[in-house]
Amino acid sequence: MVQTRITLAYGDGIGPEIMRAVRRILEAAGAPLVYDVVEMGETVYRRGVLSGIPPEAWEVIRANRVLLKAPMTTPQGGGYKSINVTLRISLGLFANVRPCKAYAPFVTSLHPGMDVVIIRENEEDLYGGIEHRQTREVTQVLKLISYPGTHSIVRYAFEYARAYGRRKVTCMTKDNIMKITDGLFHRVFREISQEYPDIQAEHQIIDIGAARLAAAPETLDVIVTPNLYGDILSDVAAQLTGSVGLAGSSNIGREAAMFEAIHGSAPDIAGKGIANPSGLLQAAVQMLVHVGQGETAALINNAWLCTLEDGIHTADIYREGLSRRRVNTDAFADAVIERLGREPERLRPARFQQASISIGGAPERTARKALCGVDVFLDWSEGERDPARLGRQVEGLVSSPLKLQMITNRGVKVYPEGLPETFRTDHWRCRFVAEDGGEIDFSRVIDLLWRLHQAGLEVIQTENLYTFDGERGYSPGQGE
Ligand code: NAD
Repeated sequence: MVQTRITLAYGDGIGPEIMRAVRRILEAAGAPLVYDVVEMGETVYRRGVLSGIPPEAWEVIRANRVLLKAPMTTPQGGGYKSINVTLRISLGLFANVRPCKAYAPFVTSLHPGMDVVIIRENEEDLYGGIEHRQTREVTQVLKLISYPGTHSIVRYAFEYARAYGRRKVTCMTKDNIMKITDGLFHRVFREISQEYPDIQAEHQIIDIGAARLAAAPETLDVIVTPNLYGDILSDVAAQLTGSVGLAGSSNIGREAAMFEAIHGSAPDIAGKGIANPSGLLQAAVQMLVHVGQGETAALINNAWLCTLEDGIHTADIYREGLSRRRVNTDAFADAVIERLGREPERLRPARFQQASISIGGAPERTARKALCGVDVFLDWSEGERDPARLGRQVEGLVSSPLKLQMITNRGVKVYPEGLPETFRTDHWRCRFVAEDGGEIDFSRVIDLLWRLHQAGLEVIQTENLYTFDGERGYSPGQGE
């Protein structure tokens, strides 16, 4: 059998204990793997490498393209970067796949029938880390949702559903509020769903969707969602299954993939040898399926299910009257190894067909882009923050072909005809558009900025207003 070279990182805290246990199980199952161990995490951070990943580890990770990683501890403060975010973004791991399944009645769960897979976009949204403090009172973060990024994750979700025999994909966004960014995600979902008539497609607003996930997860199957919502939903879902110690996740890219438990390095129990290795073992099972070793994956997963059925439980899932034996990490691994070759009697045995998921690239988007105005953001707190005063001053500075359309404060229109009750910070957005509603030249924007600056107004940001094939590429102000 062809051997696959993979990279192993033993991690921090409970990482080395659970990785040793998982490696023993992989070896006992005869998984045709060759292991290259790399050092990353706390010891590397302490040597002053801010990313926590030394150059020699990068070389191995990039050459092998498959990484099984134990949890790492990111030291607080000191400018240290999260290893996970660095790996995801540097290796283009666009899809975070987290199956969340209950193992009732053997592991106590609030929702015994739960079997949900959360597919979270992994590179975009609010995780670009583009944040600014713009005025004394106001901060901002940029939320970026791209067409190619959305196309990849939505396509992946449908291909995943088809490959694993899932019946429904639910998209969750907040596009009733964020009509352009989340609206793009929802629109791409609708478009791509047309190509999968065999799979039911639905959309839910994230707030009610999250509530349904918590109250009735058996109504959901595969969920696809932008990065932040997915981050929150997937922790809620994992907890609902019974223990954070049970779930594994995959981070999938076009060129590389990374597999890990969903939990952290658990410093409170590190060194005691009592951690549950199941989350990392589930990650290893997903890795075996990914590299085309579905049979070994099923062999290990079924032995693990038998261990749960036999009531051999680590402390986090041990329940008096339900469990039979409370075991430590090593004894749990021994129990799994003893059961290799057996199939569970009551839990459904695992079968992994060879699923190669290919998503292709997003089609190129063409549209005629035209500049039709500009939003100019000002830091202003004069004259008791009276919007009419600012409005009159700005109207005296703008000239044809631009006109002042409105001023907003935190997105709410305050001029002309605002409400006196609207709270006003020191952060103002003045929207200028072409008088005739047509196109303008960018030199007009520069001219306007120069006039505002000359008049002593502090410009902190500008945002050009475009149309695409005549369709507005910007949102109206609240109350406009
Ligand atoms: P955690 O997941 O490490 O621990 C939360 C709780 O769950 C603790 O009580 C812990 O004992 C328990 N727990 C976790 N895994 C367990 C297991 N396998 N068996 C039994 N019990 C388990 O979360 P935390 O305490 O918030 O974070 C600790 C450290 O882990 C932090 O430094 C954080 O940055 C890091 N972290 C790393 C990753 C990663 O590498 N992917 C993910 C999350 C957190």
